[in-house]
Amino acid sequence: MSSQPHIVLPWVVRRTRLPLLSLRCVDCRSGSATTGAGRFRVNANGKLLDVWLLVRCVSCDRTSKLAVHERTPVSAFDPVELRGYQLNDPGLVASRLLDPLFARRNRYALDWTGAWQLITPSAWPDDAWPVHVDVVFDDPVPVRPDRLISRGLRLSRNEVLRRVKCGVPLRRPTAAGFSFTVLAGE
Ligand SMILES: [Zn+2]
Repeated sequence: MSSQPHIVLPWVVRRTRLPLLSLRCVDCRSGSATTGAGRFRVNANGKLLDVWLLVRCVSCDRTSKLAVHERTPVSAFDPVELRGYQLNDPGLVASRLLDPLFARRNRYALDWTGAWQLITPSAWPDDAWPVHVDVVFDDPVPVRPDRLISRGLRLSRNEVLRRVKCGVPLRRPTAAGFSFTVLAGE
């Protein structure tokens, strides 16, 4: 058998909704917040604008404001972006929430539990080993490759370790595309 796999399958990791924020509520001490439908608040003070992303505690509903822009001259805004804040553009909500720098500045981590799916082709080639799989991330969902592969192939994690050759460490979470090769089982 050739060592060059000729069958390449695409897998896609994609969010199904926005992730929650792991963020301590100052009122009830719950550790989970949501952007809900996704709202910004824009406040004008003379020629300066404040823009916040609003998030809500999932336990007590307390609203917190995460600063997107503070005391920024109106003239410094891209008009399209400013309009997006005013209209609560869902794409802008997602890009701010998922921005690692914004997350670090506002001291939250993302909780992706139940907020993403793995899309795989329905047909798996019979007896056409080895099979090469390219994993593409439409959204930056951190996954452990061994868990993702185990789920996608319905193999035990031990079998994954035996049959899969992967270009990245199997146990280290990644949100960047990677490839792996599945060898024939015994
Ligand atoms: Zn709360």
